[in-house]
Amino acid sequence: MKKTLEQLKQKALGEIQRINDSEGLKNLETEYLGRKGKITKVLREIKDISEEMKPVIGKLANEIKIELTDAIKTADSKFSGKSSTDKGFFDPTLPGIRSAEGHLHPITQMLERIWDVFRSMNFDIVDGPEIENDYYNFQALNIPQDHPARDMQDTFYLKKEKNKSVGKYGELLLRTHTSSASQVRTMEKNKPPLRVIATGKCYRRDEDVSHTPMFHQFDGVAVDSDITFSDLKGTLHHAMREILEKDIKVRFRISYFPFVEPGAEFDVTCTICNGKGCPTCKNTGWLEMGGCGMIHPNVLKAAKYDPKKHQGFAFGFGIERPLMIKHKIADIRTLFENDARFLKQF
Ligand SMILES: [Zn+2]
Repeated sequence: MKKTLEQLKQKALGEIQRINDSEGLKNLETEYLGRKGKITKVLREIKDISEEMKPVIGKLANEIKIELTDAIKTADSKFSGKSSTDKGFFDPTLPGIRSAEGHLHPITQMLERIWDVFRSMNFDIVDGPEIENDYYNFQALNIPQDHPARDMQDTFYLKKEKNKSVGKYGELLLRTHTSSASQVRTMEKNKPPLRVIATGKCYRRDEDVSHTPMFHQFDGVAVDSDITFSDLKGTLHHAMREILEKDIKVRFRISYFPFVEPGAEFDVTCTICNGKGCPTCKNTGWLEMGGCGMIHPNVLKAAKYDPKKHQGFAFGFGIERPLMIKHKIADIRTLFENDARFLKQF
């Protein structure tokens, strides 16, 4: 069917080249695209093909229709020809036709906002590889092999080369968080004091209205000789108020993450109901943003820091989540469908 459509297209395009009057073009349009046209006829058979091929053929047919209509229009303009300027009057005072301007994707806008906010607090922006190894993604963050915390971060592994052992750093995988970049990789290379955030794409095996297999995260660390939990609270409260551009309240609930001790979940007041309770916040008035805590001594040791001399805090949040809250987006997947009608709104 694909082949038939392609052949019809080529044939029609060839004929358009040869026709030299408007009438001929009109007839050709009816012959191919009319109600009893050749292409329309092929499309009637679409009901007999397999379910998975239907969208493919449908898309192709639409593209062909558009291409042919355009070709006919272009050819026709040669005959009917003479543009409006030839009709005698051209009005130079009419406004021009403005070409549509693009803009940054909402995720990029959010990323830039986050960079600005943290730069204003003297944080550096760092980056790390998206293809990570087991050591930096898990082990160095106090998540050894067989640790139950790995269940929540199941990811995609790269194929191993035959007869090759994986070595000290373990298998290659798509990183499940940006903590691998901000925490271990940066700490290994730099002595304290240190304040960095890492942002970028992460991957997990999840998909529903609030999860996609690829998502964005930002996560940060600050290490020095006198960092306390109060610094963490102050930093996050200020950062979230700036990022969401709303005067929100925050709360910390004790929680467990292997790479921090003590660890906490970080919530902000629901921006949709202002804390009164609504379906989005499940009537609690709070929205979960991510995890944070004081860096675990084992992580400091993995980076060759002395936990007796230095402490620090770490936090990690998704980027889609604050974005969805800020713009009241119901389904995360709409962010990645590249539908201009959706993206134009930001
Ligand atoms: Zn709410």
